[in-house]
Amino acid sequence: MTEDLNPHHVARRQFDLATPFIGDLDGWRGMAEWLFQPEQILSVTLPVEMDDGYVHIFHGYRVIHNTVRGPGKGGIRFHPSIDADEVKALATWMTWKCALVDIPFGGAKGGVNCDATTLSKNEKRRITRRFIAALGDNIGPHTDIPAPDMYTDAQTMVWIYDTYHMMHPGQNNLPVVTGKPLDLGGIPGRSTATARGVYFVANHFIEIGAMPSLNSLDGVRVAIQGFGNAGRNAARIFRDAGAAVVAVSDSRGGVHDPKGLDVARVEAHKDETGTVVGALDNGKLTPGELLEVECDILIPAALQNQITAENAGRIQARLIVEAANGPTTPLADEILADRDIKVLPDILANAGGVVVSYFEWIQNLQNEQWEEHQVDELLAKKMRRATEAVVTERRTLCDNLDEYRIRWEERVPNAPKLPTPSYRTAATAVAVGRTRATAESRGVWP
Ligand code: NAD
Repeated sequence: MTEDLNPHHVARRQFDLATPFIGDLDGWRGMAEWLFQPEQILSVTLPVEMDDGYVHIFHGYRVIHNTVRGPGKGGIRFHPSIDADEVKALATWMTWKCALVDIPFGGAKGGVNCDATTLSKNEKRRITRRFIAALGDNIGPHTDIPAPDMYTDAQTMVWIYDTYHMMHPGQNNLPVVTGKPLDLGGIPGRSTATARGVYFVANHFIEIGAMPSLNSLDGVRVAIQGFGNAGRNAARIFRDAGAAVVAVSDSRGGVHDPKGLDVARVEAHKDETGTVVGALDNGKLTPGELLEVECDILIPAALQNQITAENAGRIQARLIVEAANGPTTPLADEILADRDIKVLPDILANAGGVVVSYFEWIQNLQNEQWEEHQVDELLAKKMRRATEAVVTERRTLCDNLDEYRIRWEERVPNAPKLPTPSYRTAATAVAVGRTRATAESRGVWP
């Protein structure tokens, strides 16, 4: 069977698995569509002069998924796979993520279809400026607030700020974008926030006894796919927590040492050569092989659709903590559940980035400068609380599964039996449930 890897279809499947567990079902059907469909999809054509004088046409997208709980919030990605459906899915996950960690934002996402690895800095700057100019007033400090994602960074956020500020002079525009550098309204700890969040979630999940085969992160073997903002910082943070980082990879391949890599050495090699490949004389991996190495915790921190029906049967980890967005497909989720491999979903595990973006936004609105310890303490609290909410929700759903099944069969005759809810389904149920409650209390306008 060929698997449907369209990210927006994947998001729909995750949503459909969660809806039977959300609240009372009267009048639910119409509300479900409202909660799933994106509010706004913008598609823009960007002519950009390249360094050789040639004018190249790029395609950019910005999707606002849902603003019931607050303005749109979500990163901007530069990648050749970007299209409207990928951005729609990523924006949808942002709505759920913000609701799950309980911050007053809705979901949004943007991207430009380009291969950032082949662009010069000046070309990247011109693409960014043209994209932000084309988005015009569709972004703004109280409407939609971008942030970094794959192949965009603090420098890209400066260009976004600067372009927006040129178009809206004479006002405090710092809160229009987060992930900025410290000397331009950035917040301490934003660059490591996603990875810190991954760590807080994994650590707390173990601490509260949800992973009986592990007592702590000490000595636990961790494999990480992707060595950028999320993956590289995770390698450092998990190492510092006592884990053995046994394998890491980037787009060109990976390195593996069952006894634990020297993370600092791998980082130095990456800085010098642009890749982790070759950091060790032995232990070379392809990006795909990384996912299948023997380890306790696997952290996908690159792209979507990495753990699929094709390779889920060969994953050797006991726990998957999703730093990337959408790395595991619905069919892979089923295979992993059958094999008793637990998955802490993206909307929980990688929410640290948006939580600290929220702190940066508050800091900018107040023209304040927060301290790093404040950021870290509040981030830890948010991530632990969200982890507990998901674990508790799953337990409650499993305890009452027979009742949910009967109600669902009454409502949808001949529907397939409701599967045992995963942590992903529990997290989605909490998030969509909260969004639904707010939508219902606000009502349908007019
Ligand atoms: P990044 O651009 O900093 O790094 C991406 C890394 O992935 C690079 O090391 C790249 O070489 C690697 N990569 C690309 N294709 C690969 C492949 N096929 N196999 C293995 N490695 C590959 O991006 P990032 O910000 O670290 O984002 C990574 C993931 O984390 C994305 O899914 C993103 O949506 C998610 N995420 C990021 C943040 C954030 O704050 N940056 C927040 C939440 C989620």
